[in-house]
Amino acid sequence: MARAVPLFSGSKGNSYYIGTSSEGVLIDAGRSCRQIENAMEANGLKMQSVGAVFITHEHTDHCSALKVLAKKYGFKVFASEGTLRELEKAQRILPTADTAVIENEVAVGNMLIKRIDTPHDAAESCCYRVTASDGKTALVATDMGIMLDGVREGAKQSDFVVLESNHDIEMLKTGIYPFYLKQRILSSKGHLSNAACADELVQIVKSGTLRLMLGHLSEQNNTPQIALATAIASLEKAGLKFRSDFTLDIAPSETRIQSVIF
Ligand SMILES: [Zn+2]
Ligand SMILES: [Zn+2]
Repeated sequence: MARAVPLFSGSKGNSYYIGTSSEGVLIDAGRSCRQIENAMEANGLKMQSVGAVFITHEHTDHCSALKVLAKKYGFKVFASEGTLRELEKAQRILPTADTAVIENEVAVGNMLIKRIDTPHDAAESCCYRVTASDGKTALVATDMGIMLDGVREGAKQSDFVVLESNHDIEMLKTGIYPFYLKQRILSSKGHLSNAACADELVQIVKSGTLRLMLGHLSEQNNTPQIALATAIASLEKAGLKFRSDFTLDIAPSETRIQSVIF
């Protein structure tokens, strides 16, 4: 049975376990190694089930545990060439670590992981679509200023999708962030807003993907209630009923016992 476990999500750190209970991958490792171990254990998962770690980009909230994690468990680390270069430059990973560039698709055990590029203010960011050993697929797509066709297509072909719902535009505009930071978040290489996410979710559910999760919520410029309400309003306006036509969860910022079977 394929399962997605959001270990952490948001600006303090991001990490997802995707696979089955006995075989999976980690997408991002943006907390401490101990916190990831604890979150895995709380969800009944063993670190030994992790076949490899896939990093989306070099921002700290996606890779802070990587050095310790890769050393302690000998995990193979996949990322784009640009991301790997930045990780090495910032000493987020030891030169002796087992790393590989993912160009398009790679097999890890009985799983297949596909790279899909994302527009973000990082060297060469991407997101990943995982096909679990039972053939079910999950896409985790966060940290992107706009939705690109490649990500959209990847989402439509998945059984489960985590999509970024980073900020409420009004909260961001009237909030305490300095002007340059607001501009960065709102840019095409920033983060996806609740409204943009909600629009995309309508198309995704209409294509047949019924399990959804909102990810990378801002603590300053969003609340889980607002993000959820925005998405549900948009989906219901399109005639899709929450819980009967689709499921929708929030990826937690702190560890919770929470997984989605897809
Ligand atoms: Zn991030
Ligand atoms: Zn980022």
